[in-house]
Amino acid sequence: MSEIKENLIELEKRINDACSRVGRKREEIKVLLATKTVSNERILEAVKLGYPFVGENKVQELLTKFKDIHPPQVEWNFIGHLQTNKVKDVLGKISLLHSVDRWSLVEELNRRLAKENQTLDILIQVNTSNEESKYGVSPDEVLAFLRKVLVVKTLNVKGFMTLAALSSDPDVSRECFKILKNVQQQAQTEFGREFPELSMGMSSDFEGAIEEGATIIRVGTTIFGQRKYADSYYWPSSQ
Ligand SMILES: *Cc1c(COP(=O)(O)O)cnc(C)c1O
Repeated sequence: MSEIKENLIELEKRINDACSRVGRKREEIKVLLATKTVSNERILEAVKLGYPFVGENKVQELLTKFKDIHPPQVEWNFIGHLQTNKVKDVLGKISLLHSVDRWSLVEELNRRLAKENQTLDILIQVNTSNEESKYGVSPDEVLAFLRKVLVVKTLNVKGFMTLAALSSDPDVSRECFKILKNVQQQAQTEFGREFPELSMGMSSDFEGAIEEGATIIRVGTTIFGQRKYADSYYWPSSQ
C-alpha cells in the first residue's frame, strides 16, 4: 500500500476515535488537504482516494497547481493571508476563503465580486492565540466586524477559522479552539442565524479541534510527510 494511503487510513482512525470520544459523527468533519510544497502527483493520489477539498496558502502556488488540478475534480480553498492586490487572481478559482482578517480585504473582495455579479463563501479568521504576529480579527472585535461584513451581499459568511498557538502543550491549542467555538455561539445568538463552519486543527492538534467542534480540519504533514521548509517560511508571522 502507498504511504499516502496508509497515512489516510491512520488519519481516518484518529478522526473516528476523536468523534466517538465526544459523540460526533464522522460526516460532520471535512478533511482539507493542506497541499503546500506537495507535488501534483501526490495531491491527486489523495484526491482520488476520496479527498476533494484542497487548500493552499500562497497565491502563486495555487495558480500553478490550478492549471492541472481544478474543479470539478477538486474544490480549492485559500487558507493563507491574502494580499489585497492578489484578490483578482484567486476569485473564480476558490470555493471557500478561510482567511478574511481585515476590512480592506472585504472591500476589495466586494468590489471585484460585484463587478462580476458573483458571490463567495468565506470564513472570518480569528486570532484566538492573541499573538501579536498572527493574522485575524481579535475575539473581542469579531462581532462588530461580522456586523459590517453581513451587510456585504457578495460575501456569504459560513463560519470562522483559526490557527491555534503552536505549542507542544495540547491544552494551549485546545484553549484556542474553545475560543473559536465560543465566538461562533456568540455570533449565532447575536445575529439569530447559523454560522456552521469551524475551520480549526492541523496535523499536530486536529483531534482536540474535533473534540471542540471543528467541521473542517486542515492537514498536510500527517498525510504527505514532513515539508522541506520550516513553517515559519510559510507563515512569516509565526517566527
Ligand atoms: C500548512 C497549513 C496547515 C497544515 O499544517 P500541517 O501541520 O502540515 O498539518 C493548516 N493550516 C494552514 C493555514 C496551513 O498553512
